[in-house]
Amino acid sequence: MIVEQLEGRGIADRRVLDAMSRVPREAFVGESDRKRAYLDMPLRIGYGQTISQPYMVAIICQTAAVREGDRVLDIGTGSGYQAAVLAELGADVHTVERIPELAEQARERLERAGYGSVHVHVGDGSLGLPEHAPFDAIVVAAAAPDMPASLYEQLVPRGRLVVPVGGPEGQRLEVIVASPEGPAVTRSVPCRFVPLLGAEGF
Ligand code: SAH
Repeated sequence: MIVEQLEGRGIADRRVLDAMSRVPREAFVGESDRKRAYLDMPLRIGYGQTISQPYMVAIICQTAAVREGDRVLDIGTGSGYQAAVLAELGADVHTVERIPELAEQARERLERAGYGSVHVHVGDGSLGLPEHAPFDAIVVAAAAPDMPASLYEQLVPRGRLVVPVGGPEGQRLEVIVASPEGPAVTRSVPCRFVPLLGAEGF
C-alpha cells in the first residue's frame, strides 16, 4: 500500500508515509473486509458510509501539514482510520461524526488499536467544535457545497482547512489557509466523497 498506492502516486512526506505504515488499517474495517483493507479503494463501514481510500487519507494529511503537538479537528469520523493516522502524526485529535452508531464503533476501534487518546464527538461537524477551538488544522472527509465558514473561523492564524468542495458527482480537494487578508485557497486533486450533511453542508 505504502510503496504502490502512496509513494508511487506522489506522496512524498516521509512522516505521513511512516505514520500510515504504523496504523493497522484492518482494525478499522469489518471482519469480512480484513483481506481487502489495504487495497486502493473505499470499503463499506455500515450506515451507507465508507472508510476513505488510503491515497485520500495520505493527501489530506500531507496538505494539512500536521505537526507533532498540533490540535486537529477531523470531521466525519466514519471508521476512525483518518483520526488514527492524525494521532500517529503526534496530533491532539478531536473528531466529529453525525451518526451515533458509527461514532461508537469508531471509539471502540480506536481504543482497541491503541488510539484511546482521540476524542470522539457526536454532532453536526459542519459547524465545527467551537468549545474546543481554535485548531491548527481542520480536515473534512465529506464533500461540502462551499467552504464551511464556521470551520474557517475555528482556525488559528496560519491554520489549514482541508475540505472537498463541489457537487455529489465530484469535487476538488481545497486547502484553505487562514491569513490576515482572509482565506487563501489552493485547489488540489479531484476527488469523490460522500456529502457533508448538516447546517453548512448539503
Ligand atoms: N474519515 C473517515 C471517512 C468517513 S466517510 C474514515 O477514515 O473512515 C465520511 C463520514 O462523514 C461519514 O461517516 C458520514 O456519516 C460523516 N458525516 C457526513 N456529514 C457529517 C456532519 N455534518 N458531521 C459529522 N459527520 C458527518
